[in-house]
Amino acid sequence: MFKLYNSLTKQKENFKSLAEEKNKKKLVTMYTCGPTVYDYVHIGNLRSFLVADLLRRFLEFKGYKVKHVMNITDVGHMVADAETGEDKMEAAARREKKDPWQIAEFFTKAFFADIKRMNFLKADKYPKATDHIKEMIKIILKLIKNGYAYEANGSVYFDLSKFSDWGKLSGNKLEDLIAGARVEINPEKKHPYDFALWIKNPSHIMQWNSPWGKGYPGWHIECSAMSMKYLGETIDIHTGGEDNKFPHHESEIAQSEGATGCQFVRFWLHVKHLMVDGEKMSKSKNNFYTLGQILEKGYSPRALRYLLISSHYRDSLNFTFDGLEAAETALQRLDETWTKISEAVSENKNGKGESLVAAAEIAEKEFGAALDDDLNISGAFAALFNFIRKINAKLTSGVSKKELVVAKKALLKMDGVLGLGFQKIKAEKISEQIKKLLGEREQARKIKDWKRADEVRAEIEKLGYTVLDTAEGQKVKTKT
Ligand SMILES: [Zn+2]
Repeated sequence: MFKLYNSLTKQKENFKSLAEEKNKKKLVTMYTCGPTVYDYVHIGNLRSFLVADLLRRFLEFKGYKVKHVMNITDVGHMVADAETGEDKMEAAARREKKDPWQIAEFFTKAFFADIKRMNFLKADKYPKATDHIKEMIKIILKLIKNGYAYEANGSVYFDLSKFSDWGKLSGNKLEDLIAGARVEINPEKKHPYDFALWIKNPSHIMQWNSPWGKGYPGWHIECSAMSMKYLGETIDIHTGGEDNKFPHHESEIAQSEGATGCQFVRFWLHVKHLMVDGEKMSKSKNNFYTLGQILEKGYSPRALRYLLISSHYRDSLNFTFDGLEAAETALQRLDETWTKISEAVSENKNGKGESLVAAAEIAEKEFGAALDDDLNISGAFAALFNFIRKINAKLTSGVSKKELVVAKKALLKMDGVLGLGFQKIKAEKISEQIKKLLGEREQARKIKDWKRADEVRAEIEKLGYTVLDTAEGQKVKTKT
């Protein structure tokens, strides 16, 4: 049974989707708060999105069909999430001397390029906020009708005093917020923490007509509108970064449940933040990285993916370049075994040790059981590397054809969840010097002079290559 930690109930719960409960259909609806497209996403954002990707892949591994929606925020997301001050889109437009539509288009494209390079599964939909103004207005009208919202001077606010469940996700109760109130006083609001659903601000570049005059929507309302439109009034899983929990997700609950009267989200999943070298990532500290910057330093997107998924999503992850190096090495080990098993020629004999058919079954079972426990990724990797060790041992002592087929299939299945994309290591064009050393090493191995063989290997490695012993003999690969 899949157990998933629910931030709403603050405990691990047995996962069952709404469709499963209603008519036994293995369908899951999932919504992920996507990027605000005024800049490149950073590796902290990528980690948060990757957890959603991992979760989706694992649900598919378990036989579910997942309907996944991720929004693109291209309007109305203010600096510091406050309703005053300059909008992020506007600020970027001013900085780059472009209009906000051009900014949004540019960074939306950049976002798609990033997630493609990181091997994300494509969501079923990537709706844009600006394409859903009508739907947002409809919900706001419903909220006014239901007594949860009020208009003041062309803006519309959510009336927190009317929504008794406020705070059920974040634990921020209205009374506590009042005591520590530090919000700017807006005379239009009945309560300082009432949040904007529709904003009248003639100086904002993006404007739409509404029943309350020209204006633009608040940030939170877009996620309520788009998740409801594409996934229904109640969704199974909503994911996002920990920093989205309050006020964004708390407000999404208030708006959605205030409008429909039914539960908005069954499972809330929040990803802990990412640190860089033990510190909070920030542009001013010069420890702020985008995927592009990581690639410029010569690392592969696969290594970044490996590193970002390799620690549990509810633990904060400390990103370091040493960690990224280690991820490259781990990937190399996986690729080496993948190359060997792909090129292995079956001798149709059963070598020494455990049959790979049995080992594959154990590996898949352990891998699934680990992830069943609230996506315990370390357990999953342990199962994978245990299997890799067994494969390597068996490849040396001899395998049957069936073992090769079954082991490859199991590896692919696990890779389908991790999304690392195991690769065959291609033989490279090499210099005469390397060729000569390889010849020397082969000679040494023939006469079982292991010491000499190791010395030559070390020499080759010094020159920047790794030696692999495959079924077709020695191969070299540039060290990454
Ligand atoms: Zn959202």
